[in-house]
Amino acid sequence: MAARIAVLGAGFAGMELCTILSESLGDKVQVTLIDKSDAFVFGYSKLDVMFGRTTLDAVRIPYRHFVKPGVRLLRETVTAIDPITRRVTTDAGVHDCDFLVVALGADYDIAATPGLDGANEFYSVAGANRLREILPTFSKGRAIVGVCGAPYKCPPAPSECALMLHDFLCTTGVRSQCEITMVLPLPSPVPPSPDTSKALISAFAERGINFMPNHRVAAVDAVRRVAALDDGSELPYDLFLGVPKHRAPAVVETGGMAEAGWVSVNPRTLETKFPNVYAIGDIANTGTPKAGVFAEGAAKAVATALVARIRGEGEGSLYAGAGTCYIEFGAGRIGRVDVDFFSGPKPSGIYHEPSMALRADKEMFGANRRARWFGL
Ligand SMILES: Cc1cc2nc3c(=O)[nH]c(=O)nc-3n(C[C@H](O)[C@H](O)[C@H](O)COP(=O)(O)OP(=O)(O)OC[C@H]3O[C@@H](n4cnc5c(N)ncnc54)[C@H](O)[C@@H]3O)c2cc1C
Repeated sequence: MAARIAVLGAGFAGMELCTILSESLGDKVQVTLIDKSDAFVFGYSKLDVMFGRTTLDAVRIPYRHFVKPGVRLLRETVTAIDPITRRVTTDAGVHDCDFLVVALGADYDIAATPGLDGANEFYSVAGANRLREILPTFSKGRAIVGVCGAPYKCPPAPSECALMLHDFLCTTGVRSQCEITMVLPLPSPVPPSPDTSKALISAFAERGINFMPNHRVAAVDAVRRVAALDDGSELPYDLFLGVPKHRAPAVVETGGMAEAGWVSVNPRTLETKFPNVYAIGDIANTGTPKAGVFAEGAAKAVATALVARIRGEGEGSLYAGAGTCYIEFGAGRIGRVDVDFFSGPKPSGIYHEPSMALRADKEMFGANRRARWFGL
């Protein structure tokens, strides 16, 4: 009988894993990929939607286009996971498997920050789409790009948001009447790469963006229009663009898989403490950033391990913990940082200056995955 593999979550991690399994094993494996959504959206598209550069319809990629031999994609919501028996319960039934890969991503803990709501956060698709309507109404006053907790997805994204907000306000002709402040619970915008952080801090200074590192937004008071920071101070605002605190999806917490907030894994093999159960992507505690490229890297390692085990030959490759992130610097230019978490004594990053050529690279990054996963 063909090995049964259940993959929970069709994001960067789940789709890359299933694509490699299909390419390597085809019909020799029965892969069940489960996701509650009907479409995929790249994380960075949320910024484009929010600033009116594109529409939600244009960036939603329906899962019906994800068609791979040996893989069936089910639109179901996972309601329980038993990692010991490898039984997954969904709103539509139960799925038993020989190998289980949990790739459910990171959820947002909106309630952890009093006053944060669907109208002032830009990390969900719905939030970004709502802010798209609100941003054009902001014509003067104080804007805050505020992060409510770390770790959060895509460490450079709040910096990108602040720089894109500057461009947006210049285009609408109101920048001189507005202040922009970014509140970040990290010591620098991209801690593994001092050069990238320095370049972003210079870009903020050139544009008059106030940068407050080592601070977290603890609460938002929409009536008084103030953001309370974790040191007890308050910042008045007229526009708040928030990054919610992140958490593992509740279904892994109740299933006993999460420890200290996230699913513990061997960071190089992505194995959990449960036999034949892996966790990949944002949900796993690997010590690497919560970003699509890292989720893909983890998926590649697990795919090679599963292929080796199913074929009964060789061993899988280890997760490299390295990846490239593109960073919107404003004015149409994109920078790049190549980050490496495992090969040296400490995490490091190589910075590439912003350019128009790197914009083409970023577009290629999205186009390649669209083609590889969806055949579009
Ligand atoms: C503003 C922003 C910009 C970003 N920019 C970049 C970037 O430029 N480059 C980059 O590499 N990364 C970027 N990211 C980060 C990137 O989007 C995530 O790190 C990446 O999507 C993580 O992949 P994943 O597979 O672990 O999780 P996800 O892609 O989040 O996928 C998890 C899937 O699980 C599904 N799911 C969750 N719970 C359930 C359930 N109970 N039942 C069924 N299905 C469920 C979800 O529907 C989802 O499809 C950005 C993120 C944001 C918010």
